Formats: sequence, structure tokens, C-alpha cells
Amino acid sequence: MNITNLYKFGLTERFEQEATMYEGLYLARVSVQHKNLYKVVTTSGEIQAEVSGKLGYTATVNSDYPVVGDWVMVDRVNDWNGHAIIHHILRRKSVFERRAAGTSKQGQIVAANIDTVFICMSLNNNFNLRRLERYLSIAWDSMATPVVVLTKVDLCEDLSQKLSEVNAVAIGVDILVTTSIKDDGYTILYKYIDKGKTVAFIGSSGVGKSTLINRMMGKEILATNAIGEDDKGRHTTTHRQLIALPNGGVVIDTPGMRELQIEHADLSRSFADIDELAENCRFSDCTHQSEPGCAVKEAIKKDLLSAERLSNYIKLQTEMKYQGLNSRQVEQEKIEKMFGGMGAMKQARAFFKAKNKRNS
Ligand code: GDP
Ligand code: ZN
Repeated sequence: MNITNLYKFGLTERFEQEATMYEGLYLARVSVQHKNLYKVVTTSGEIQAEVSGKLGYTATVNSDYPVVGDWVMVDRVNDWNGHAIIHHILRRKSVFERRAAGTSKQGQIVAANIDTVFICMSLNNNFNLRRLERYLSIAWDSMATPVVVLTKVDLCEDLSQKLSEVNAVAIGVDILVTTSIKDDGYTILYKYIDKGKTVAFIGSSGVGKSTLINRMMGKEILATNAIGEDDKGRHTTTHRQLIALPNGGVVIDTPGMRELQIEHADLSRSFADIDELAENCRFSDCTHQSEPGCAVKEAIKKDLLSAERLSNYIKLQTEMKYQGLNSRQVEQEKIEKMFGGMGAMKQARAFFKAKNKRNS
């Protein structure tokens, strides 16, 4: 089997190993997903594919279906006699999840097996630390390694101030400063994009993601945006979603990846400082709002923590709690909270039952 093609698309030993478990099937990587139709890259090129009846039948949640970046086992390497059939999804190394539109609690996976995610924020008007915190939460939760990329340094006049602000938020994360208008302004990214590595660029529209991808590619493969222009609809289904770079790395650029909402974000990672402080709160379930002996409040008083950071933490916690619930569930959650703790729904139901009885 000629596997070179797959190495260009990020194949590593781990997946090659796992694939040997499936005799008679071929390893491939999902490059495009459009509803139920897929494209996969096999040893002989990109071909059309669909999931097997069995896979579709046993799938119970969104995440049981393949997404861009997945390594899958298919029944053929060319589609001369019809679409390839995807029989298995190999164990995912990381997943990026977006809350499904509407109200269901189920998240929608938008991409899988990303090693490094570049969180892009421009050093001019897009600079927003709260947004950065959100993206960091998403990244930590995905199992991919976040790297902060501060773009457009050519437009920035207070770099050291901004860097120290980012440092305080992105604890333990590499922070890169780039500009796409100078040839040596972005080469630092290559350190993270190597053979067998899959990366993605996330961040607001207009911060320079497409420009950076084009630079990595060495040619203009993505249309870039004039500043301030609305880019909705720019990423059509014809847009390449799995991009093999000349140096061997791979970029995943699905429409869903670009503007992720917060979902199952791992707050404890991006707010490790608050969690650490909280260990010294008198109450283990301290909400750091009005409890006595609160070490977090104490730290704010001593100027060791900004009040804004705490309030963002609390706000995110509340949002996460309610996000993905429909209005009835939100109400139930509130009742739970009102009655406190476990078994509260039971109490609440009994309460409302009794109340209804009295009223009738
Ligand atoms: P995306 O929406 O994040 O993909 O952003 P684009 O790559 O489309 O870039 C948005 C605009 O910013 C375009 O007009 C780019 O030419 C411009 N841009 C990108 N990188 C830089 C940079 O490093 N410096 C400056 N001054 N402009 C940039
Ligand atoms: Zn506290």
C-alpha cells in the first residue's frame, strides 16, 4: 500500500497502528463533510464517501458520525464503482465541539484530531482579553494544545502592555506575535506546523487567519477580507477544509471551526488561578460572591486578582450552566437552584403539585 499520500495529510503512527485492527478495510482521512456526504483522502486521492448502514443505524449522538479530520476505515480507495463506505471512526485525539443550533443539549462536533489550535487575536481593534479567555477554555476542553497568536503587530503601538495583559490570562500557553506583511513576521508558526501535525486557526473574523494560512501555504488559496467587510458566506462548501501544507503539516479550516461558541469549556484550566485561590475559601462550595472567609474575594482586596476576572469567571460559569438547555430545562435548573442541591426537582414537583391542589 502506498501510504505517502496519507502522511501528507497528517498520518501518524498512532492511527496507522489502530488501523491494522481492521483487516480488509483501508485507512482514510475525512476532508469534507456536507450533511451525509463526505470526501475522504485515501492512498490514491480524494474520493466521495458515505457512512455504512450499520454506522448510521447504531449512531445515537452527533459525535458518532465522522467529521473533518477524522481518521476512518473505508471499503475502497477509489470511487470508480460508487462512493466509498465508511465503516469505522478511529479513536479521536481531540474534538472541537459547537453547540447545535436551537436548543438541544447535544453539541455538534465540527472537527477532530487537531494537535495545535492557534487562537488568533489582532493587536489592534480586535484585542479583547475576555474573548481570549473563552477561546482558551474551548481549546483546553478540546484536548488540542492552544497557542495564542497575536496578529498585526505592525498596527500596534503598545506591545509590551498588551503582552503583559495576555500573559496574565493565557497562563502556561505559548504566545506568538506575528505580522503577515513582513516575510519573517510569521515564520515562528512553522515551529508548530510540522509533518504529522494538524493545526487550526480560530478567532474573530478579520484578525488575519486566512492571510496566515495563505502564507503557510506559500500561495493565495483563501480569499482574504478587506477590513470591516462582512465575511458571512465567504466560506462556501467548495472551500478546502483539510489543507496539506508544503512542509508536511495540515490545516483544518471548516466553516464551524472559525467562530466557535463556548461549549463544555474547561473553565478550570483557563481560570487555574481562581481555582487555586478557591482552595483556601472557608466553604468548599464557595461561589466567591458573599460568603465569609472567601479567599478569592480576599485576593481581589489585596490586588492579586482583578474583580473583572472573577466576574467574567462567574458569568461564564452561569452561561455554561444554561447554555444548550431549552427554556423548560432552564426553568427546571432555576427551580433546582431555588430548592438547592440534589433531589430538588422532586421537592419542587411536590411543592408545585401541592400548590396546584390548593389553587384548584
Ligand atoms: P480572517 O477573517 O481572520 O481570515 O482575516 P483575513 O486574513 O481575511 O484578514 C483580514 C484583513 O486584515 C485583510 O485585509 C488582511 O490583508 C489584513 N491583514 C492580515 N494580516 C495582517 C497583518 O499582519 N497586518 C496588517 N496590517 N493587516 C493584516
Ligand atoms: Zn470563595
